[in-house]
Amino acid sequence: MSLKSGKMKIAIIIVVVALIAGMCGVFAYNSNQKKKAEVAAKKEAAREKKLEAKASMQVTNLTIAPGREYTMKLDGTEAKVKWSTDDDKIASINSKGVLTSKAEGSTKVTAQYFKKKFIANVTVKQPVRPTDVGVDDGIKEVFLTFDDGPSVNTAKILDILKQNGVVGTFFVTAQNPKSKDLMKRILKEGSAIGAHSYTHEYSIYQSEQTYFDDLNKLEDYIKSVTGKTTKIVRFPGGSSNTISRHYATGIMKTIAADLERKGYKYYDWNISSGDAAGKLQPVDALVRNATGTKHEKAIILMHDTQVKTTTVEALPQIIKWYKDNGYKFSTLENTAVQSHQNINN
Ligand SMILES: [Zn+2]
Repeated sequence: MSLKSGKMKIAIIIVVVALIAGMCGVFAYNSNQKKKAEVAAKKEAAREKKLEAKASMQVTNLTIAPGREYTMKLDGTEAKVKWSTDDDKIASINSKGVLTSKAEGSTKVTAQYFKKKFIANVTVKQPVRPTDVGVDDGIKEVFLTFDDGPSVNTAKILDILKQNGVVGTFFVTAQNPKSKDLMKRILKEGSAIGAHSYTHEYSIYQSEQTYFDDLNKLEDYIKSVTGKTTKIVRFPGGSSNTISRHYATGIMKTIAADLERKGYKYYDWNISSGDAAGKLQPVDALVRNATGTKHEKAIILMHDTQVKTTTVEALPQIIKWYKDNGYKFSTLENTAVQSHQNINN
């Protein structure tokens, strides 16, 4: 054996040993990494399980009229929820959980949260009576509404709402030039502004032109005062009024359809406080009229003009009844609830 080949052998042995050592090292490193990954995955799975256990579908059975939007919610979630429906032709849902009801039928909404799926049954159907609110989700909800203001009473009403931590919807006119700050305050305190009428003259019902001239003028006024537009409307006299017959036959049907086509929503009520009466009503009568309902969704008609002093006095008792009976207070903005009475002209 020559010296040269001996050196070579040693070199080869060194290389082989180094390779084996290296491989062992890599192997040890890999198995270590694998263990770490396993531990992390186990930890993550446990965390997800914990989060899944905290989540629950807020509404598991929903009946809704076609053409409405309803926000589905998975309570107690802190991470992203993946929403889907079984049948997009009946109702579709976007990534934020906003469901759009389309055609009559039933479908299921699925909320996927990590690996767990939460299901809600959705039935889309037209309400049997036009006066129905078109949403049945098992949640008691009251909508306090005030027409014809703002006035000095609006400030008192806002104080009461604030004291009680609740909100309402104000369908305003432009008849009180001193009301601008009150309009701003309504929005600032979380309540909503809707359009009633610029003039509140029934002659607005002469034609589509006269109605929309008045509405557009009011909209411009609201925008100029508050910087915000509104797409919610209440007709003077409500959609069922018959006074409009004196001005034009069939006008309510026409403008109600026009409004919907133009992207507005109009609202009537399913509970009247009775304060529209010419004679000032006693507080106990207003409270009696406005409470004691069996409606799951209560849309109460009240007025916040200067003369309606007893409405202000009755309001705390009305709010108390709804609080005691488990109602949530909402505004008519961004709700699928839509109270329509029978149109009579
Ligand atoms: Zn009115």
